[in-house]
Amino acid sequence: MPASPDLIARSLAAVWHPCTQMKQHEALPPVPVARAAGLWLYDPEGRRYLDAISSWWTNLFGHCNPRINAALREQLDTLEHVMLAGFTHEPVVQLSERLSALSGGALGHCFYASDGASATEIALKMSHHAWRNAGDAEKTGFLCLEGSYHGETLGALSVTDVAIFRDAYAPLIRDVRTVPSPDARLARDGENAVDVARRAAAGLEKALIEGEGRIAALIVEPLVQCATGFAMHDAEYLRLARRLCDRYGAHLICDEIAVGFGRTGTFFAHEQAATDGKNLLPDFLCLSKGISGGYLPLSVVMTTDRIYDAFYDDATARGFLHSHSYTGNPLACRAALATLDIFEQDKVIAANRRRADVFTKQLVALRDHPRVRHFRRCGMLWAFDVAAAPADFARRYFSAAMQREVLLRPIGNTVYFMPPYLLDEESGDFLAAAATAALNEVLA
Ligand SMILES: *Cc1c(COP(=O)(O)O)cnc(C)c1O
Repeated sequence: MPASPDLIARSLAAVWHPCTQMKQHEALPPVPVARAAGLWLYDPEGRRYLDAISSWWTNLFGHCNPRINAALREQLDTLEHVMLAGFTHEPVVQLSERLSALSGGALGHCFYASDGASATEIALKMSHHAWRNAGDAEKTGFLCLEGSYHGETLGALSVTDVAIFRDAYAPLIRDVRTVPSPDARLARDGENAVDVARRAAAGLEKALIEGEGRIAALIVEPLVQCATGFAMHDAEYLRLARRLCDRYGAHLICDEIAVGFGRTGTFFAHEQAATDGKNLLPDFLCLSKGISGGYLPLSVVMTTDRIYDAFYDDATARGFLHSHSYTGNPLACRAALATLDIFEQDKVIAANRRRADVFTKQLVALRDHPRVRHFRRCGMLWAFDVAAAPADFARRYFSAAMQREVLLRPIGNTVYFMPPYLLDEESGDFLAAAATAALNEVLA
């Protein structure tokens, strides 16, 4: 028996796959992956697939990257794990120092967890607890954007505006108010992206006023709301949101779990909201996904002296007592340090600017395709919507792309590219041609 059918059958018998109605695997089974290198995934029979979505947006420098592998091998023989409560170690200290330096020292306190949803939970809990410690215990409300996605544990789900993920659990989660999205596609006649941002900010101000001082924080995905179809907005929204949060006494949580680590063209997305050389300062910054180069589960919430000081006290109960078993795992931190090394050694942010220009040109045929709408780009992230797409477009497009050796996984009628920062002229050409051919096949 060839390896793939056997592995698929065993997987369907024993593994409950994420984000999946398992019955649909009867028609479209999961794809077995035996090994991976660089941009490519290989199945047991040697078929290959270009990972154009970085394995759910995590992989930055290719699979089995030699530099990250070497760092991990060394760490494996030095210290694999130790609890972080009451103990510390070099990788977690170095990582905190370097992330803090990347924030210009403004976010100098790093609290770790293992996944994005946990980072959201931490930011929400810390925000309320900081207000409570400051004597403002009635600040228990949160605001999120229409179409927001911040993870799927119960707390994170309460600030996630995606009906298909939320509806079944509605009775279990807190009622959180959504405010208008600054999605640039919502521009009315004569409006530009900045106008949409201003209009959305007016809606935010209304919600803050109606919150009557009970809003603890606004949570946003800076520049791109990825999971709900790559809605992009002007950085002006972040500036206005920061100002409004200050005016009405709410924290600003920047969820850069998907858009951090260079994805939008700057190391952190919120850097693009700087004014007169002065950085926008979130109260909380959530990072995960790309942080370990796509190797190991790791997330972090970075925060300011001001928040940190609100917890610093003789009373244990005023501390932040949240914990996860694998908090600050040394292997994951070491993968993150190797990832930061690559950013520095290869001057990745500048190199990506050239890389993105090349791929944008290679996508011209797609951009000009008669059924393509709202072709858009932000840094190393491209997306477009397909007009009058057939039912079940996402799955059909995925299959058509896989037949052309490319992994693309549309969200609804939105196709997106989020490749590792390794895409070159040749692989970009291959990807663009396959993506166009797959579109023509599905629309035929
Ligand atoms: C993926 C994602 C999360 C959740 O991260 P998990 O590791 O999947 O829990 C939260 N926020 C944003 C913006 C994300 O893209």
